[in-house]
Amino acid sequence: MRNYVFILLLIITIQSCGSSIKTKNNVLSKEFVTDNKSLTTNDLHENKAMKKANLKATLSPLEYFVTQENGTERPYTGQFDDFYEKGKYHCVCCDAELFQSDKKFNADCGWPSFSDLNNEENITIKKDNSHGMARSEVRCSNCDAHLGHIFDDGPTPTGLRYCINSASLNFKSTITKNE
Ligand SMILES: [Zn+2]
Repeated sequence: MRNYVFILLLIITIQSCGSSIKTKNNVLSKEFVTDNKSLTTNDLHENKAMKKANLKATLSPLEYFVTQENGTERPYTGQFDDFYEKGKYHCVCCDAELFQSDKKFNADCGWPSFSDLNNEENITIKKDNSHGMARSEVRCSNCDAHLGHIFDDGPTPTGLRYCINSASLNFKSTITKNE
């Protein structure tokens, strides 16, 4: 009888050991998942750093300065300042469609000016208090590139002037061969 009790106790002990190992494994796997999460965050930072490095390699120094360092090109120097061909203007970094030539007007401010957006979803407006001025900054919603600023002295019907750096834009002509 004592032997039976001993064997029974032995079985119970082995079983409880097994379940404690299981619990430990669960805890371990949870820690592993947590580690994976932090790795994912690091990966995102690395991706961002890689994207920046890629942009530095593919953009011109001026394009990089304007779009990634919130720079401004010198007035009356940009390739699209005095340029009125029919077409669409895309983000120089990610190619998102931003503006259209039929909304471009001559504000004589030294930078390409648009009275309206082509696609509202592709533009983000942010408050910008840099250089001691309260301005509204225009950024690409898709890749967060700095594009320029928006002012309320534009023509009707919007009354807006999107003052955009040529260096942040790529132009794609919509003129067909028959036109
Ligand atoms: Zn973009």
